[in-house]
Amino acid sequence: MSKTDRNVALVAHDNKKRELVAWAQTNSALLEPLGIYATGTTGKLIEQGLNRSVTKLLSGPLGGDQQIGAKIAEGEIDLLIFFWDPLEPQPHDPDIKALLRIAALYNIPVACNQASADFMIQSPLLYGDYQPNKPDFSIYTQRVTPAG
Ligand code: PGA
Repeated sequence: MSKTDRNVALVAHDNKKRELVAWAQTNSALLEPLGIYATGTTGKLIEQGLNRSVTKLLSGPLGGDQQIGAKIAEGEIDLLIFFWDPLEPQPHDPDIKALLRIAALYNIPVACNQASADFMIQSPLLYGDYQPNKPDFSIYTQRVTPAG
């Protein structure tokens, strides 16, 4: 497998953290060539589980989801694996929605459960030259606003 300079963000809500760490351990060889970013608590557990360092941001409810979203917008994060909890309301629901919106806007692959994460991590596209289409925002950025 060739080296890749792609970066993946890993995020899991509390009830999903054990599942994400187990998934990362099962797939540690496939994750090895990828840079890993994570929200604070998830990142700490991934570091312990994989015995490798990851770029840890703030904890999700303290702004970490927004930091991941900003890095997607800046082109620093290429893939998002986000095991969010569909059975538990979260204090930072607006941030979660914002993160998923930014990922959709910038056309990056998102996996929200284990099966989709399996498909993503085993995709040959991950380790080749594939580049997703970069959206063209020129119609939006060059729009004429009421103020001119
Ligand atoms: P955490 O954040 O990894 O710091 O727990 C995850 C989240 O709830 O978004």
